[in-house]
Amino acid sequence: MTRTDSYLNQGQRQQMVDSLRSRGINDEAVLEAMLRVPRHLFVDPTFAGMAYDDRPLPIDCGQTISHPSTVAMQTQLLCLRPRMKVLEIGTGSGYQSAVLCAMEASVFTIERHKPLYDKTSRLLAELGYRACCFHGDGYQGLAGKYDRIIVTCGATSLPVKLMEQLKTGGIMVIPVGEQRQRMLRITKRGESEDEWTQEEFGLYQFVPMKTGKARRTLQ
Ligand code: SAH
Repeated sequence: MTRTDSYLNQGQRQQMVDSLRSRGINDEAVLEAMLRVPRHLFVDPTFAGMAYDDRPLPIDCGQTISHPSTVAMQTQLLCLRPRMKVLEIGTGSGYQSAVLCAMEASVFTIERHKPLYDKTSRLLAELGYRACCFHGDGYQGLAGKYDRIIVTCGATSLPVKLMEQLKTGGIMVIPVGEQRQRMLRITKRGESEDEWTQEEFGLYQFVPMKTGKARRTLQ
């Protein structure tokens, strides 16, 4: 399948980035990555014309790709530096993973829906994004310790395993809540809970983070 990135797409991306900047996104590395990643290739061709509008779009398995402004906000909150090890929960379309890869992070991403995992792991590889994709339950996280964790589905509480897998000094960005979620940034200064700092950054609406009956096969 040929995947093109036309001048029109590039122009739309520039407009999207200009609009993100005017809305307060000021991390140049985030803006630069979003200028480079072809979002239209991560949505169904039916919706490609809307790929650079600030809106969520349907993807397979009844899920959605987040608004570009939400991706930008969450990524900016991560305070990411190149070569950091990042765990993402909710691979979905792969767009957020691609943005993290474009920022030179070492990306590990988990998706609980097998068809999405299959399709997106293939797409990311084809487009040259070297994210390590896993099919599993994000509430369990992934063995290892991470500098950053980004959750792209709405959790009902802070997943214990994810806090364990966050390095000391690490940051987790996670939307928490039922109908709507508060965007939280947790900074882990030590192992005990009283050493975690929590900041809040507004209300969002994400697809729910579901606890897992999903099979956990690692590839
Ligand atoms: N980051 C994605 C957002 C997709 S929507 C993107 O850029 O497109 C959130 C995704 O989280 C959905 O694909 C959903 O299936 C997935 N998800 C929900 N609960 C999960 C869990 N417990 N573990 C892993 N993935 C989960």
